Amino acid sequence: MYKSTKFIFITGGVLSSLGKGLSAASIGALMECRGLTVTLLKMDPYINVDPGTMNPFQHGEVFVTDDGAETDLDLGHYERFTHAILRQKNNFTTGQIYDAVIQKERRGEYLGETVQVIPHITDEIKNKIRSLGNGVDVAIVEVGGTVGDIESLPFLEAIRQLRVDLGPQNVLYIHLTLLPFVKASGEVKTKPTQHSVKALREVGIQPDILICRTEKKITRDIKEKIALFCNVRPEEVIAAEDVNCIYEVLLNFHQEGLDQKIVELLNIWTRAPRLDEWRSFIEAVKSLNISITIGIVGKYVNLQESYKSLNEALFAGGVKNKAKVNLKFIDSEFLSDQNMNSEFSDLDGILVPGGFGSRGIEGKIKAVQFARENKLPFFGICLGMQMAVVEFSRNVCGLNGANSTEFSPDTPYPVIHLMDEQRSITDKGGTMRLGAYECVIPEDSECHRIYGARRISERHRHRYEFNPEYISILEEKGLRAGGLSPDGRLVEMVEYIDHPWFIGCQFHPEFKSKPMDSHPLFASFIKACLDCKTRKEQEK
Ligand code: GLN
Repeated sequence: MYKSTKFIFITGGVLSSLGKGLSAASIGALMECRGLTVTLLKMDPYINVDPGTMNPFQHGEVFVTDDGAETDLDLGHYERFTHAILRQKNNFTTGQIYDAVIQKERRGEYLGETVQVIPHITDEIKNKIRSLGNGVDVAIVEVGGTVGDIESLPFLEAIRQLRVDLGPQNVLYIHLTLLPFVKASGEVKTKPTQHSVKALREVGIQPDILICRTEKKITRDIKEKIALFCNVRPEEVIAAEDVNCIYEVLLNFHQEGLDQKIVELLNIWTRAPRLDEWRSFIEAVKSLNISITIGIVGKYVNLQESYKSLNEALFAGGVKNKAKVNLKFIDSEFLSDQNMNSEFSDLDGILVPGGFGSRGIEGKIKAVQFARENKLPFFGICLGMQMAVVEFSRNVCGLNGANSTEFSPDTPYPVIHLMDEQRSITDKGGTMRLGAYECVIPEDSECHRIYGARRISERHRHRYEFNPEYISILEEKGLRAGGLSPDGRLVEMVEYIDHPWFIGCQFHPEFKSKPMDSHPLFASFIKACLDCKTRKEQEK
């Protein structure tokens, strides 16, 4: 349709965590509503090659793409808000850029030149950004970090150059800032925004549009003041008021005229945006009338960023069932026989999510046992499925001391173990079983009923697997394989039949759930939790 891809660069100032990722994703959704195709990119300024080796406490969730890239959690927002299918190339870090440049230098590709940040590092960044365009109408690029950080400078320099390279009609800069409200004077303050724009202009970038986060409504006067000091027009100052539901952001942006301004400045002709689906979704969210409580028994419970996609998947499953899902995060390390009954008494379902490392393992096993024995809906994801297998082996099949070799290398019953492919691996980064794998679901299983399909594809991120030697022992007692790899070697799902809802999956279904298209496993799990709540109320 267009000769060239239009690029929108999103930078952030004043503070981190203002919601650049959500803004990028919302802009993507608005462009799609206008009939344009989009792709999104996140550039991260740290040296790690990818976030795969980073502690979730520091970095939040690692989002996995179909092609097995371990990426920043913002890519999760991008996929949930838009139809873009993201891959390895949609997220890169400073570490990857330097790695590529150093490898080229070793191969002699710079022909004796002195290799420098400008132009070699910036060229590498620009090439990666440009290669993204390929056929799409709009590419939205989020620059990680905050303007003024030393480490984001090469990214800013690269995007500055791109406007010259690609032409001003093809490049737009959007800057996200904060308008703090100072209680003492009862005022919204614009100075941090002025300073942040000043810092951006010092590196040669004049933003075209400012998105200003604010807790209070802002007046026309404030927009005029910001416009004057930041060298934009008042209608290019977009107020981003706090919202209850993140999907409202895009509707507010539209209300503020953001998408109209973007297409005007980039000289794109589009149809009027079709926002009906998003509007009815938000309506549905606002009219949820029943609520349920699900216990998330895990390790990273203090930082909910670590379970971003999971939270969104449960939320979407709730909306699908017209239910508001309250999450109660329970640190498995502190679960004991003494406090378990009281911790779990208000729950309508238990979910044990993915995780690494031995801390809190026994608490997770106890949580599985509680759910199994009390017929509380149970959903085990990745490590959660592995713990369900361990619990069932120990407490139902009598395999005392059964464990995963991840936590007990000498266990007498290694029901979860490493496959041969994983045994020789020594590097930690990018070496797990990663990305999309097909899974075959046996006919007449619960999983078949839930998915309504015999063959599915889901995303993985783990090293350990259900040991096939134990399948028949567990199946005999009722924990059946609900999904297998196409060659039949790997158990990808388990289901316990003598229970209202007890399913474990080795993959991460949360990565493929979308707000308006909730994942079948989550929708079905929430439905079971609702039924459980009704049952409990009737029993009272
Ligand atoms: N630690 C487990 C493994 O590597 C589970 C990983 C996960 O839950 N993502 O297999």
